Amino acid sequence: MKTRYDIAIIGGGVIGLALARALCAHSLSLAIVDASARIPPATAAAAGMLAPSFEKALGGDALYDLSAKSLAMWPSFAAALEQETGVDIDYRSDGVLGVALDAAGARSLESASEAMAQRGAAVAMLSGEEARALEPALSGAVTAAMHAPRDAQVDPVKLLAALRLSLGKRGAALIDDYVAAVEAGQQGWRLSLAGGGDLVADQIVIATGAATDLVIDGAPRPPVFPVKGEAFSVAAPAGASLSRVIRGPGAYICPKAGGRIVIGATEDRKRDDLTVSAAAIEALRSGAGDIVPALKSAKETARWAGLRPATPDGAPILGPDPRGGGAWAALGHHRNGILLAPASAAALAGEILGIVTDIDLSAFRPGRFG
Ligand SMILES: Cc1cc2nc3c(=O)[nH]c(=O)nc-3n(C[C@H](O)[C@H](O)[C@H](O)COP(=O)(O)OP(=O)(O)OC[C@H]3O[C@@H](n4cnc5c(N)ncnc54)[C@H](O)[C@@H]3O)c2cc1C
Repeated sequence: MKTRYDIAIIGGGVIGLALARALCAHSLSLAIVDASARIPPATAAAAGMLAPSFEKALGGDALYDLSAKSLAMWPSFAAALEQETGVDIDYRSDGVLGVALDAAGARSLESASEAMAQRGAAVAMLSGEEARALEPALSGAVTAAMHAPRDAQVDPVKLLAALRLSLGKRGAALIDDYVAAVEAGQQGWRLSLAGGGDLVADQIVIATGAATDLVIDGAPRPPVFPVKGEAFSVAAPAGASLSRVIRGPGAYICPKAGGRIVIGATEDRKRDDLTVSAAAIEALRSGAGDIVPALKSAKETARWAGLRPATPDGAPILGPDPRGGGAWAALGHHRNGILLAPASAAALAGEILGIVTDIDLSAFRPGRFG
């Protein structure tokens, strides 16, 4: 195995892989070291919503701008990836409908709609009847809805497979191993692999998701912490034919290819395990059933949990390590890493290569936490 690379990316979730693909276009030797068997990627647990219009409270204007930019990049990102690999990643630009079940919920959607429209999102309020005209399976209890026709979704597991295939075709080294330690040396960065052996790279990118055990040259860890999410899927029952993502107060519902419906997700800051509790799934099922009654008794096909990589201010950590030396961070994409992958990857690849892009990462610098 080759042991010297221009760039080594530690972590092969959507963020590490999308960045690798953006860098691959520039004839660099590239290794992606990923420990999915030991640390399952959040990416594989995600619902795959590309829905910036519903993130009023998370991260502020700079994050909304990055999210909107990324949403706009998704159609060409998906088309190029599918064309290159032949993998259908189930990208759907069918929009997202956020629904309310009472007057308080309707007021909250109304205020979200005004705030998001001011930020430039294409959103519109609908009555319950108008929402049911779009999605006849919705409950009669739906009183109002916020429609975001440009929001979209993708299948994250298919996306991971397509990205790995693309990188293999482009000559990047995909190494399934755990990086136990990283040290700066005369020859560059030395990565010690748990499976034995070392890699040396001129530059490294830390894209380890919510895992916080990797110590880089004795330095403190970036302030990333896990937010656990539990979710499940059902087989679409008769009477629950849905055309788009539906988000409600107790659950979101994502119709996928092949009659699969993903229902999620809990958010628990105090947990970093991957157990799935019956109570969590029951609560999500109840929330989904309030929105689409046919889902109350739909046959469950799988349940799972994942750890979102969160940060104290809700925004990602993207840019050069403050100590310099060719170390970069691509961390903390919290609950929108799938959405943000195209823009984060393009912008960070630009910085690593010294190419100016139209994406401003100044609000997301690793040094901002002091
Ligand atoms: C239930 C749930 C639902 C979600 N829904 C959505 C959604 O609808 N839309 C959206 O945009 N986002 C969603 N997210 C968030 C999204 O999944 C994450 O933001 C995104 O996957 C983060 O990607 P990542 O590459 O940073 O991390 P990950 O996908 O976690 O990948 C990190 C990788 O690093 C590897 N790694 C860690 N340490 C090491 C090491 N020392 N050596 C080698 N490899 C290492 C791990 O094995 C892992 O494969 C959801 C998350 C969850 C849990």
